[in-house]
Amino acid sequence: MHRIVEFVNTRRANGDGLGTREQLTSWLHTHNLLPPSAAADADDRERAVWLREGLRALLAENNAEPVTSPRPDGLDPTARTQLATLTAALPLRLDVTSMPPRLVAQPREPVDHALATLLADVATAVAAGTWPRLKACREPSCRWAFYDQSRNHGRTWCSMNVCGNRVKVRASQRRRAGS
Ligand SMILES: [Zn+2]
Repeated sequence: MHRIVEFVNTRRANGDGLGTREQLTSWLHTHNLLPPSAAADADDRERAVWLREGLRALLAENNAEPVTSPRPDGLDPTARTQLATLTAALPLRLDVTSMPPRLVAQPREPVDHALATLLADVATAVAAGTWPRLKACREPSCRWAFYDQSRNHGRTWCSMNVCGNRVKVRASQRRRAGS
């Protein structure tokens, strides 16, 4: 599965997979983003959550409805701004020793390096043409991330059974209410 999707989905209905710095450390170790000797601190955890929610906002925009205003989207309105602040401090570098050249994390500090690597994943997905298929569920109460493998790139919900149905039920309730 795509690493961005896994990272965004560390926030689950039954809890937060990045709830503590130990959990963040463990997640980064599991994904080979952090050397075994390194660990995240509380500030790192806060930044990782900013990064996650900022990425979620970007993935939600990849799944935006054609008419966007007004759209109560259930997202933190500051997520993008916070992500922009964060990215300014996490530089990427063009590695021309690999072929084709690619963006890689620049920071020396291990956790910064790990977070910058997750940002580089965005550039990699854009370059590969897969970025528009990385989406967050359109259901505001859900926002689960997924990779849209449908032929027409038209998948809207994480699951037709859960969120797709929720939307249909609301629509039929509105019709019955006559509004
Ligand atoms: Zn959903």
